[in-house]
Amino acid sequence: MTSELRNCRECGRLFVGATPACPECRKAEDAAFERVRTYLGENPSASIRETCEATEVAPGLVRRFVEDGRLILAAGAGATCKICGAPVTSGRLCADCQAELERAKERSGRTSNGPSGGFYSRRSGHQ
Ligand SMILES: [Zn+2]
Ligand SMILES: [Zn+2]
Repeated sequence: MTSELRNCRECGRLFVGATPACPECRKAEDAAFERVRTYLGENPSASIRETCEATEVAPGLVRRFVEDGRLILAAGAGATCKICGAPVTSGRLCADCQAELERAKERSGRTSNGPSGGFYSRRSGHQ
């Protein structure tokens, strides 16, 4: 386990742990998550706004549950792709951007290992 001193991403307090949020905020977050999940279980087609109004959970928190893949919303509930803004039901990116990101990752992996410096080594022999 890597326990280290860090700032809670919710309240900003310093705490020691291996999670992004301090134990108190995690407890509050878990309670909020349970409320949201129960509500969406009964109202599967609810939008983010309706969910927040019914559960009194902050929209930013509901969005993060969705981005983390913990919640899956109905299509058109209000969650959007971080890159192109297309509607998504779970996660940060739409399927298209996710695929594009994977391709970009593959490309950058290849170029960083590719040959470099050939141009300069050729020029150095010219004297
Ligand atoms: Zn906290
Ligand atoms: Zn997208």
